[in-house]
Parts: sequence; structure tokens; C-alpha cells
Amino acid sequence: MTSRRYPRIDLGALALEAGADLADAFLRLKKIYADIDRRNATHTADLDLPCHRACSGCCEEAVFLSPIEFFYAWDHAQRNLSDEVRNEIVARGLRIYRQHQTLIDALSGPVPVGDHDHTSLAVQLRFRCPLLGAGGQCQVYEAREVYARLFGCSFNEESGIYGCDLVGAHLADRTLTLVRAKPAAERILALPLSRFQQVYPWYFQWVYGAIGIEEQDDDDNKPQMPKSSLPIVSGD
Ligand code: SF4
Repeated sequence: MTSRRYPRIDLGALALEAGADLADAFLRLKKIYADIDRRNATHTADLDLPCHRACSGCCEEAVFLSPIEFFYAWDHAQRNLSDEVRNEIVARGLRIYRQHQTLIDALSGPVPVGDHDHTSLAVQLRFRCPLLGAGGQCQVYEAREVYARLFGCSFNEESGIYGCDLVGAHLADRTLTLVRAKPAAERILALPLSRFQQVYPWYFQWVYGAIGIEEQDDDDNKPQMPKSSLPIVSGD
């Protein structure tokens, strides 16, 4: 049986093509994540939130992230996950992309006529995140995107709970001080590689769509660039 292997990518070189210093951008992103995590921990310490490890409900719908967040999460995966696990993740991501290609690509296209953003498309897109392990645990938890850090523990724009019904019911009628999700997430706009958002399968297609390596090729640890690069707009 022929299976595909997907090499580690030189993410720093890929970012450099877009004029971004990835190491510096990672440091800045790490600080933003740490600050959000710290504030969330303070505000929710006494709330006994019903979220529990391996509850993955919020990872079974379209989750959006910017290129810098993808680079950070995938860098973590390249450093910490085995080749086998990474290959499975990429294969799942590419499979999901093919299943939903029309909808996913439309998210990068013009806003639908009569709408002011892509929400009407995004709500139609549901899939299990390719980075979820079989047991329902995020395999890049420490490096997960900003919306995962905010979901279930922050306010949405209407000062309701940005989270699932379970958390909403748990916190109903409580007097709360929480982080506001939108301004917190928008802090990432100060970083390079942050000016659009897409879903994980789109990124896997972008990075790996053209470069699956056949099983007999043992050059899989050599960093390789995608054959084509989509435009990345630098936030600097
Ligand atoms: S990367 Fe992790 S936290 Fe984010 S959607 Fe996927 S499984 Fe969930």
C-alpha cells in the first residue's frame, strides 16, 4: 500500500518570503497568549466552569485562525509530535479540505451579496478539527489559536458568553468580570501574518497540498517549501 508522508516545513523560510521574522512574531504572539490565559484564569478561578479536558465540542465546528497562529501551532506540532501523528493530521486536514473545498475556498472570496461578512458561509461549515486526537484531546493544546483560549470563558460583543450552551447555562444570572473576546483576539492584528483568517484544513492544503511524498522517499526530514505560495499579507 502506498501511503503519503508529509515533510517538516521550514516555517521560518516560508514566513520570510512574506517579509516576517517568525522568531520575533512567535515571541510577541506567545506574550499575547500568556496575557489572555492569565486574565482568563483570574476571572474564571471561582466559576467552576463545566469545561473538562477532552470535551471537544468547540473543536467540531469551523475554527478560524490567522497565518501566524497556524505557524505557531504547526511549529509546536513539528517539534513535539511524531512523524506518524503529524502525517495523520495532515492527511485528515487535506481530506476535510477536499470534502468542503467549495465552502472553504468561498471563505477567502468576496463577501456574499447582501452580507457584511462571511458569517453566513462559516456557519455552514462543520468538521472535526484535524488536530483533535482520537481521545478528543487537542494535540497542539499549548499552542492552540486565540479563539480556543477565549471560547467558554469570555464575553461576546453583546456582553453574552462567548461559548457553548453548557457554559452559557452555567453562568446565567451570574455577575461576571470576563475578558472581551473580540478586542483580545484583535491584539493579534498587531503581528505580521495576521491579516486574514482561515480554517486549519485550508492551511494544510496551502502548505502540503502539492507536496505529498511517497512512502519510498526517505528524505522526509528535510525542510521543503511548498511549490506555490499563496499571498500572505504582512501586518507590519
Ligand atoms: S487546534 Fe486544538 S483547540 Fe483548536 S480547534 Fe483544533 S483541537 Fe480544538
